[in-house]
Amino acid sequence: MSRPGLVAERSVTGGPERVKDPVCGMDVDPERVAGESEYEGRTYYFCSPGCKRRFDEDPRRYVGQEPGQQG
Ligand SMILES: [Zn+2]
Repeated sequence: MSRPGLVAERSVTGGPERVKDPVCGMDVDPERVAGESEYEGRTYYFCSPGCKRRFDEDPRRYVGQEPGQQG
């Protein structure tokens, strides 16, 4: 039984490390974003301050189109 003691990787689930800017649709690195906003318990990341500002003005416009319905 060998167990990895020191692992640099943080991704356990194997999901993508990148997140999508909901305003412009661009993929951004969560560690190198220009801004982030929290809305309805979720955090959104932005490639530029302008995108964040747009989102803050009307978040529903951008998160409402998310096709994440499961049922
Ligand atoms: Zn953007």
